[in-house]
Amino acid sequence: MAKDIVIWPEKVLNAPARPVTEFGEPLDALLKDMDEAVRAAEGVGIAANQIGVPLRVALVARGDGTFFEIINPQILEKSEKVTLREGCLSVPEEWEQVERYKRVKVRYQDRAQQWHEVEAEGQLAHIFQHEIDHLDGTVYVMHLSSLKRGLIRERMEKLKRLLKQRARNAEGSAAG
Ligand SMILES: [Zn+2]
Repeated sequence: MAKDIVIWPEKVLNAPARPVTEFGEPLDALLKDMDEAVRAAEGVGIAANQIGVPLRVALVARGDGTFFEIINPQILEKSEKVTLREGCLSVPEEWEQVERYKRVKVRYQDRAQQWHEVEAEGQLAHIFQHEIDHLDGTVYVMHLSSLKRGLIRERMEKLKRLLKQRARNAEGSAAG
């Protein structure tokens, strides 16, 4: 079963993730867990801390059903800004306009430790920035007004109570 996605607010989403220094089997397993989780949630991107692992690893959808696997990414160049509608798997059912750079150049490592550079524009550039933000401990709601963020926080806390309740009920029935 796919790993649960951490719902904001939660400490692991608000702290910067650590750079990856060990490549190989544990990283491959993490990438597999992330791939399963993002596909199960029908997302266009996911950061490792969204499944509770504070490492600088993210997946970004290419739009053809495959994902960029970006490890230790950094933004090298930025262009002018543009506003697009954004959502987040850790903030379900919410969509807000967010200002980001229209084009970015990103440097990242793949699972074989090779460095790559990619230039992205529009929606793809937004996803790269959104995921790299996650790795820096920034959820997109931090770019919204405190009023909007406060309302979203209330809805997320309510949702988390509901999910906990459901999990308890499920445990109860499984135990008979
Ligand atoms: Zn997100």
